[in-house]
Amino acid sequence: MKINREKKPAGLYIHIPFCWKKCAYCDFLSFGGSDEALQKRYTEALIRELSLYQGKHIKLDTVFIGGGTPSLLPADHIERIMEAAEAAFCVADTAEVTMEANPGTLTAEKLKVYRRAGINRLSMGAQSMDDGMLSLLGRIHTGRDLTENFLAAREAGFSNINVDLMFGLPKQSGQVWRGSLKQVLELSPEHISFYSLQLEEGTEFCRMYRDGKMDLPPVEEDRAMYHEGIRLLEEAGYEHYEISNCAKPGFVSRHNMKYWNFDEYYGAGLGAHAFSYDQGRCCNVSDLDSYFEQIREGRLPVDPSSSGEETRQELIGEYVFTALRKMEGLDMADFRRTFGADFFSVYKDQLPAIQEYEEAGYLTLTDTRLALTEAGIDCSNEIMAEFL
Ligand code: SF4
Repeated sequence: MKINREKKPAGLYIHIPFCWKKCAYCDFLSFGGSDEALQKRYTEALIRELSLYQGKHIKLDTVFIGGGTPSLLPADHIERIMEAAEAAFCVADTAEVTMEANPGTLTAEKLKVYRRAGINRLSMGAQSMDDGMLSLLGRIHTGRDLTENFLAAREAGFSNINVDLMFGLPKQSGQVWRGSLKQVLELSPEHISFYSLQLEEGTEFCRMYRDGKMDLPPVEEDRAMYHEGIRLLEEAGYEHYEISNCAKPGFVSRHNMKYWNFDEYYGAGLGAHAFSYDQGRCCNVSDLDSYFEQIREGRLPVDPSSSGEETRQELIGEYVFTALRKMEGLDMADFRRTFGADFFSVYKDQLPAIQEYEEAGYLTLTDTRLALTEAGIDCSNEIMAEFL
């Protein structure tokens, strides 16, 4: 037992690693191209993997099918994956069941099947509503596709929809960012995630940037877009509850909250991550051939090099890092229950730094909580590094 915490229903993440084509900025574990035979083979393997959990009586209250682009798969594959998850796990009737669905891949027929499969939340990767930006990002859809797919999802009965947006993009002005956000706000989704573009090794954007073929907005503009985004979202009635996430009241992402609350989750599919109080973190193999091989042999396809090596101190650091992503911050009582120690006995050497950040207006500290302020988010990496 690595962490002494009371067991609650867990989450399940299911990874679908296929996309129509690779976006220029993306380093997620996904492959471009639409090879239907491979998609079918992968679906069968995933169903087999899920069946390996049968008989363990694991309770779930969230499921998240992510990718990749899960909505690229034929809808009946998703329905069979959900049937397999429900047969293998005890999924609560009230579970939040999310699927990532990219604009340009949805149809009324597919949406109907997702509803029948028990999916009750969609997460739509809009990224921008500006067609020039979308083409630069290498996305396959237009702003109009997002609007049409969003409205079709409402028509199909989805009353809980997230829309992902990006800012800090090449050639993106504050006006273009505002325009995208306002167009999405007109659709009134229950949840909006907004991410600053990160240049990841091995991506086309990273190469273009290194070769001097692409510029990014200066940091001050990136930060101005971020804070303006929060202001517009709060004015529209959304609560800013995590660094990159806002939700209407009652619509926080219950699955993603498990990551930030240090709750347990299982992972199925290529490269899927998992976390348990007994084993700590581990992830599945990320090579497709070894994934298929391990499933064929009837084994959970866990990468042996990924599991169980964290020290207690590393787990504590991860706990603080994830807790500070939430605007409510770190709950001192939960920290004590989880690690059997007082926060300030573990971090006594960091107290002067914490006080300095507090005086500078970057952190708030009370007897019960430690939290970043909105200004503190701009130097969150530096602050969080104190605890790792
Ligand atoms: S659709 Fe998403 S996962 Fe697929 S390549 Fe683009 S950013 Fe990556």
